[in-house]
Amino acid sequence: MKLLRYGEPGAERPGLLDAEGRIRDLRDHVPDIAGPYLSDESLARLRALDPARLPAADGTPRIGACVGAIGKFVCVGLNYADHAAETGKAPPEEPVLFLKATSAVCGPNDAVEIPRGSEKTDWEVELGVVIGRRAKHVTRAEALDCVAGYCVVNDVSERAFQSERGGQWTKGKSADTFGPLGPWLVTRDELPDPQALGLWLDVDGTRRQTGTTARMIFGVPELVSYISAFMTLHPGDVIATGTPPGVGLGQKPPVFLRAGQTMRLGIDGLGEQRQAVIQGE
Ligand code: ZN
Repeated sequence: MKLLRYGEPGAERPGLLDAEGRIRDLRDHVPDIAGPYLSDESLARLRALDPARLPAADGTPRIGACVGAIGKFVCVGLNYADHAAETGKAPPEEPVLFLKATSAVCGPNDAVEIPRGSEKTDWEVELGVVIGRRAKHVTRAEALDCVAGYCVVNDVSERAFQSERGGQWTKGKSADTFGPLGPWLVTRDELPDPQALGLWLDVDGTRRQTGTTARMIFGVPELVSYISAFMTLHPGDVIATGTPPGVGLGQKPPVFLRAGQTMRLGIDGLGEQRQAVIQGE
């Protein structure tokens, strides 16, 4: 099942994508694609609906972030050995964690803003994991039962803010529009193996990132289990699981985003994002 949120920013409605690619309105069945409505029971109720009997959305509405009211946006750094190498770092012995401000979250095709003063805004295609069940000290074997589904994330990053301004990484990861999420939340029954997905990202039609989640250092069950030992994961929390090689920082010489460019990115089975790059205020 592919769930989504559509409509104007801040006023998105819940929907699902039917087999023909049409958006069907779920408003009469669930208030939002968020938190408590991501449980196995809630998702089973939605799965039992006949999409053909749901009202179709008019026209081609804006798609919002595929999860609403996100409590935590936890990110994993350096989770692909070849990406760690391109940034000059050794592969980590334990997962590197940092948080992205939830105010960075935006729709998958919304414009991405280059923040004021930025010269090193960069891209990172990543597999996003959406939590569906409270997870505290869960084992690897239990971990996937706590996952509602998966989505595409662009972990947009400002490298100078991230690494040249002191402290740790939060400053370089949290600007407005640095968290495009979606288009769909694909429920986990449709993706039984999250470690077999191709990922890619283009800038102005040039392929920059190509990877597969098979090359993650720490896979999804290990990450959910590991993170749950440090903080309780709640339904609607999102984990960005790290990026494969090919970020701007890793090019020789490095290249960064400029206003007027376009990013396109996608993951097998999870759909595509497309973002115009604009200058922020
Ligand atoms: Zn990242």
